[in-house]
Amino acid sequence: MSDSAHTSTETLNVDVAVIGWGKGGKTLAATLGAQGKNIAMIEEFEDMQGGTCINIGCVPTKTLIHDSEMARAQQSDSETAAQAWSRAVDRRDALIGKLRNVNHHMLADIPSVTLVSGRGRFTGPKDIEVANQGNTLQVHAETIIINTGALPVMPKIPGIDSSRVHNSTTIQHVSPRPDSLLVVGAGPIGLEFASMFAGFGTQVTVADRGERVLPREDEDVAASVAGVLADSGVNVINGAEVQSISEDGSVELSIAGQAETRQFDAILFATGRRPATDDLGLEAAGVELTERGAVKVDEYLHTNVDGIFAIGDVTGGQQQTYLSLDDFRVVLDQLTGKTEAEGARRKTDRVAVPATIFITPALSSVGITETQAREEGRDIKVAVQEVAKIKAMPRPKAVNDPRGLIKFVVDASTDEILGARLFHVDSQEVINLVALAMRAGFTATQLKNGIWTHPSSTEALNETLGQLK
Ligand SMILES: Cc1cc2nc3c(=O)[nH]c(=O)nc-3n(C[C@H](O)[C@H](O)[C@H](O)COP(=O)(O)OP(=O)(O)OC[C@H]3O[C@@H](n4cnc5c(N)ncnc54)[C@H](O)[C@@H]3O)c2cc1C
Repeated sequence: MSDSAHTSTETLNVDVAVIGWGKGGKTLAATLGAQGKNIAMIEEFEDMQGGTCINIGCVPTKTLIHDSEMARAQQSDSETAAQAWSRAVDRRDALIGKLRNVNHHMLADIPSVTLVSGRGRFTGPKDIEVANQGNTLQVHAETIIINTGALPVMPKIPGIDSSRVHNSTTIQHVSPRPDSLLVVGAGPIGLEFASMFAGFGTQVTVADRGERVLPREDEDVAASVAGVLADSGVNVINGAEVQSISEDGSVELSIAGQAETRQFDAILFATGRRPATDDLGLEAAGVELTERGAVKVDEYLHTNVDGIFAIGDVTGGQQQTYLSLDDFRVVLDQLTGKTEAEGARRKTDRVAVPATIFITPALSSVGITETQAREEGRDIKVAVQEVAKIKAMPRPKAVNDPRGLIKFVVDASTDEILGARLFHVDSQEVINLVALAMRAGFTATQLKNGIWTHPSSTEALNETLGQLK
């Protein structure tokens, strides 16, 4: 409940109720709360105040990834890899504690915002019942925002409940650090954990159903990533499916149809995350779902029920904190009455949305691949360079990681940048510049002729784009 206990007879009347302390929801609550609107922020778990990103997602994982890179670089006799893991976990916990506290106060300190602890469930289109340890509170709101995020998908296979099996949340708290780890699934989250644990000296195997990692990427990009993973000590097995797991850590795999048993200290299932709509009472509110179980929304994030919006991962699609944040902008315009003529933001306004997979080095992408461009029948020019061979890019060499590849796909007649894949140190920063250039309509030639600081990773643009004739 909120700071005081509630019983079922109490009703909290607010202008806006947000179910789930996600990125978009908390930003909306803070913005509208600061304008004096009465807001209820309903969050099920005390230790999830601030949402997935700061507690169990982006920030803790990237903190561990950073420390794994340090551990790999500074391997010494004075500290074992397992000790480096414990130290990283302590630093992660301290950081997350601080961030959660900041997030708590971001809303708790606004007089018109009420924090409601407990699990929210619709009982009608304008009513939510919040349950917490036998207490219930009714929340009535004219506007309700569903921001409940996503949950890990765990396949139904024998042994999935074994104590050695983890999802992306529990693996972050594994203790002691496993000597061997099987990561099931080679999506962004699986590859990030694989790369991270390898840095901490764990023997990592990735089992993936697909024929190669990153099937949506061009073959040369995927091959470069596979090579770097192998170089980092990650063993990727393609065409592999887990059949069963035993409590002692033996895992039965089917690899290209052949049965094989292998032993692991820990097994991480990184097999996707599904919209968190379980027991939300959506039927009581009349809110419709998509075929894939996400809350169905239009381009303004309206559900089919007047006054109910949904934002973030629960709406399906790409799961990124910054998209949940952009959802906030869309809903804010709706709630403050901005019209289409006045430029009310829509989901469809998004252009050149970048993404990063934080393996080491990071793989960042924006726009379409060469394969997609060719499938669309476009007339394109392609620039590809291995990072180690880019003469005018000393930064990766200076920081001792000149691995990776840079690739640009450009329209041959207009010089428009159609897509970029940056696989190198700092790429999570450089990709934002490329995305901005794409949004602003800068051509490949303009980017090639840019004046960039030195030594930086950005200056690779001079040389790589200079290849385009
Ligand atoms: C391991 C991992 C790494 C990630 N790394 C990145 C990254 O590097 N960059 C990036 O952009 N994204 C990353 N993501 C994705 C990112 O965390 C999410 O896309 C982002 O947090 C958006 O979340 P959201 O706004 O949809 O809601 P969330 O932040 O997921 O918040 C939903 C909240 O709702 C609460 N809740 C759910 N149901 C109820 C209910 N019925 N009643 C009350 N409360 C409820 C939950 O407890 C939760 O706190 C990562 C995710 C994971 C799991």
